This record gives sequence, C-alpha cells and structure tokens, in this order.
Amino acid sequence: MTAATAPVATDLQLAGIDWSRSGLQLGYGRVRHSDNVYDGSVIPIPIAVISSGDGPTVLLVAGTHGDEYEGQILLHELARTLTPDHVRGTLILVPSANHAAVSAGTRVSPIDNGNLNRSYPGEPDGSPTGQVAHLIGRGLLPRVDVVIDLHSGGSNSTYVSCMFLYRGPTPALWTRKVAAARAMALPYTLVVPPRLEPGSLSTAGDDAGILTLSTELGGGGTVDRSVLGRARTGLAALLAGTGVLYSDPAKVLAHQEPERVRSQTVWIELVDDSAVTTNVGGLFEPLVDLGQFVRAGEPVGKVHFLDELDRPPREFAAAVDGVAAIIRRPTLVRPGCHLVHVAPLLADIQD
Ligand SMILES: [Zn+2]
Repeated sequence: MTAATAPVATDLQLAGIDWSRSGLQLGYGRVRHSDNVYDGSVIPIPIAVISSGDGPTVLLVAGTHGDEYEGQILLHELARTLTPDHVRGTLILVPSANHAAVSAGTRVSPIDNGNLNRSYPGEPDGSPTGQVAHLIGRGLLPRVDVVIDLHSGGSNSTYVSCMFLYRGPTPALWTRKVAAARAMALPYTLVVPPRLEPGSLSTAGDDAGILTLSTELGGGGTVDRSVLGRARTGLAALLAGTGVLYSDPAKVLAHQEPERVRSQTVWIELVDDSAVTTNVGGLFEPLVDLGQFVRAGEPVGKVHFLDELDRPPREFAAAVDGVAAIIRRPTLVRPGCHLVHVAPLLADIQD
C-alpha cells in the first residue's frame, strides 16, 4: 500500500468501526450537511464490517443510486445473516451508499443533485454526495482486494440481469473478471468499454488496480423475485470464489431460496450502435422483450405522437444484431431518450 493509496478517511468520517478488531461491527459513515432538515448534523451511511482472521477483504456496495433495490436488499440480508464464523478475511457492506437518494427513492441525491457514480474520488469537504464518494473511494477502497458494486436499472430502465464488466484495466485483472462472471453466473454478462463512466466506482476501482465487479439486476424501480433469487445464489457463489466465505455459502446466504438450476452466463457487449434513441417525444411502445434477439433493421420500439391524431407512430429500429439488453421503463419520452439498447453477442468469449 503506497502513501498515495493509503486510506485517508478520518474518524470524523467513520464512526463505530475499529479496523484492528475482528468480529461483526455495525458503524456508519458521517456525511456532514446543513440545511433546513439536517441543520448541521450528519447523514449516517450504515456500514457493516465482518472480519475473521486472514483472508481477502471484499467491499460490497449498493444504493449508489437510490432507486435500485435488489443489491440493497441483498446487502441488508448479508449484514443480518453472516457471522464471523462464515468469513475468512473481511467483508465490508455498504447497503445504502447514497443514503439521501435511497431515503427519497431517487437515482441521485435530492440534497445536492449528486450522482454518486460520477463523483469519485470525491472530496472530504465537498457536497454530501462528494463526501460519500470520498468515504468509499479513499476510506474503504484502499483497504480492499475486491469491490462489488451492485446496481439495477432503476426507475428509468430494466436490464437483463447481468454482471456489468468494464473491460480491462490489465490482462490479469480482466482474466479475473471473466472468472468472477462465470462464478456468479447471472443470465448475462454485459461487457462495456474500459473506464466507461468517469467518476464511477468501477473506474475508481480499476484505476486503483483492484478487482472491480459490478452488476445490473433488473430495475424498473422495483424488485423482481426471480432476479433477486438468482442474484442471491450468484452472489454467494461469487463471494465463495473470492475466498472470503467459508464452506457452503448457499446454505448461509440462500437459506430461503429454493434450489435453482444455474446455467451459464451469456456474454454480450455494449457497442457504439447499441442505443436506439428517439428523436421525437410522445408515448413509447416497446416492440421487443428483454433478452429477445433482434436483427439490425428490425423495429424495437415506436413512439406515438401526443397531439396529432392522424399521424402514425414513428418506428425505431435496431442498428445491430443482438440481445435487447436494456429497455426504457417510463412510457413518456422526449427527444434524446434511449428506448432500447441492443447488445451483440460477444464473439471472443462464450461459455
Ligand atoms: Zn445504478
């Protein structure tokens, strides 16, 4: 650990966690804020640390966007279910990272309009969202060997349930990412370009040379039971694969989950022409289902005009062959909204 990457969050930012201790600790990050509601107090970011002996340190983050729920539920479950006897090494759980957004059920923080996944590395004295980024990016990330950032589509979209992998950052880390995706075995693995989103936790983790994984689990501002169930068993397998969990993790984590037939993941990729974008406003009618294979030129959605009763809707077609991987959720659209993302099958990786 170099001076440049050493944790810098101070006790002012973290309460109730003693890194020298083993066992289960429940603490919180302290985000300072003063407005009519908070009045100079703190916004607590709940953190659970479960530590026992030597082993890897794995950071799990959810609630980066407040309206993405499967990951939040899974991390609450882990915090309640796991004991130090299950762990070798350290698990750090942050179920509601941007707590202000989680509390409001919104993607970004209603306090500062901050998108946590565009805010890394953050600032210790910045906006509330910038402080969260600093807490995670500079206080927690330098301590860990693996980071898993759990997202879903949120209120605005639904995804095929997938591991969401930035390519890179090195051949060695990419090989480990591919192995992790196979271990988690979500229905799809969606590969995206390196450093896709500057300021994201995935970019921060990749830049720090840490094995950095992310998911997109369903979405639509709700929780899908089958998506949640498969993510639950997949996360158990993934954590076991990192070595941070002992023994039969499915029994520990998926205690209420019926045995599911786990299959191989389908590898798909976001490319420049994946997005099918409307240039008109109106009512979006999808013409495909999530996971459906479509051909280039095939209509994937139409937009009905609100005020011109004699005007037929405008159709929008896929530009590439691939899987309908992301579909917009709200029906009302304006020019520039992405309706569908079509993700081609990855030629170089298939199981
Ligand atoms: Zn998200």
